[in-house]
Amino acid sequence: MRYSGFRVIKEALTGHKGWTPAWRDPEPQSHYDFIIVGGGGHGLATAYYLAKEFQKSRIAVIEKGYIGGGNVGRNTTIIRSNYLLDGNEPFYEFSMKLWEGLEQDFNYNAMVSQRGVLNLCHTDAQRDAMTRRGNGMRLNGVDAELLDRDGVRKMAPFLNFDNARFPIKGGLFQPRGGTVRHDAVAWGYARGADQRGVDIIQNCEVTGMRIENGRIKGVETTRGFIGAAKVGVAVAGSSSRVMSHAGMRLPIESHVLQAFVSEGLKPIIPGVITYGAGHFYVSQSDKGGLVFGGDIDGYNSYAQRGNLPVVEDVCEGGMSLMPMIGRARLLRIWGGIMDMSMDGSPIIDKTHVDGLYFNGGWCYGGFKATPASGWCFAHLLANETPHSTATAYRFDRFQKGLMIDEKGMGAQPNLH
Ligand SMILES: Cc1cc2nc3c(=O)[nH]c(=O)nc-3n(C[C@H](O)[C@H](O)[C@H](O)COP(=O)(O)OP(=O)(O)OC[C@H]3O[C@@H](n4cnc5c(N)ncnc54)[C@H](O)[C@@H]3O)c2cc1C
Repeated sequence: MRYSGFRVIKEALTGHKGWTPAWRDPEPQSHYDFIIVGGGGHGLATAYYLAKEFQKSRIAVIEKGYIGGGNVGRNTTIIRSNYLLDGNEPFYEFSMKLWEGLEQDFNYNAMVSQRGVLNLCHTDAQRDAMTRRGNGMRLNGVDAELLDRDGVRKMAPFLNFDNARFPIKGGLFQPRGGTVRHDAVAWGYARGADQRGVDIIQNCEVTGMRIENGRIKGVETTRGFIGAAKVGVAVAGSSSRVMSHAGMRLPIESHVLQAFVSEGLKPIIPGVITYGAGHFYVSQSDKGGLVFGGDIDGYNSYAQRGNLPVVEDVCEGGMSLMPMIGRARLLRIWGGIMDMSMDGSPIIDKTHVDGLYFNGGWCYGGFKATPASGWCFAHLLANETPHSTATAYRFDRFQKGLMIDEKGMGAQPNLH
């Protein structure tokens, strides 16, 4: 079924009886050409582009739970391409361009809202670093504007300018950044993939991998063995666990990251604002809730829930940046499992097992990468070569010392 304004009006006038399920619920077949493990944003996008752009068929997405139950439905919805390093910037800008055409591409309203992302700076050194980043972005053809204090005040007069311990000195603004309704992205890709014949198999956990003579033969699941010529793993926070079935130990740690939503308020936040003197980022959803977050909890965990010290830390960051937030009541908080890599950048690569491919290490920032990650992973699975924007995301960069350390933190996954 094609969605359109006409269809919405027709269904509204006829009791909404004509809507059909957005994707099928098929039984797993005994063998596929491609199995994608993980029905998050990245896995679904991979299957979608494999079918649509690379004309592949006999594809299944195997999901342990339900579509949208992982990080793709738990993140704070921020998209941006304000990266500094060469290995990263072209990839994230490719993703931004895909976001810009996504809703037309898969005929689904994902509420792509390019309201701008503003990173604040609070010291002269920070401003210098932002100038450098902004220039780097511009050299890559990406939009970036450096704002002074008055420019920030004009855009966000409610910030704490006068009594702040860390005064706002300016900010780096990316007008094309913004937010996207996160779970609609999962639903849109799922629907688009299903329409192209992809089997989306939910409630089916991969519990093992069958590898014979160095080649993948398929996956063991809670619904039996499913054979495959090629297997691509995109399970985000569960990366280490799933890849251990292939005998691999990854340069990735899993950490919890929490998200927070306030009660609905009148429109106040113009786009996305990030605090530079602590870790706090905030936007406002179309329903009015302030959507915000901060640091990961800082210890290894596979639990999709966090703890109070970080709740306190995030709320302190919010209070110091915009004291009025203290009057808002918190409605919901939750956690997701982050796949934190050693240099803060992702991996999209083949493994030592023939026919087994890996996509992960997305840290805090994998939602904005979803379209490009899916496209590049599909490219690798289909053509056996990396996409031109993802050539740096290799396993062997850790061996060769070619780290892509955007934050300059060193091998500290909890700090990226
Ligand atoms: C609180 C929070 C805020 C965030 N904010 C942002 C943000 O503002 N901007 C941004 O760019 N990024 C953000 N992120 C990061 C982003 O959400 C993730 O990097 C990204 O969603 C990960 O990729 P995914 O969508 O494929 O993951 P997921 O949705 O987690 O998909 C992985 C899937 O694999 C499945 N799986 C796991 N094990 C198995 C198995 N054995 N068998 C079968 N299936 C399995 C899981 O059930 C899950 O559905 C945030 C994350 C969190 C938690």
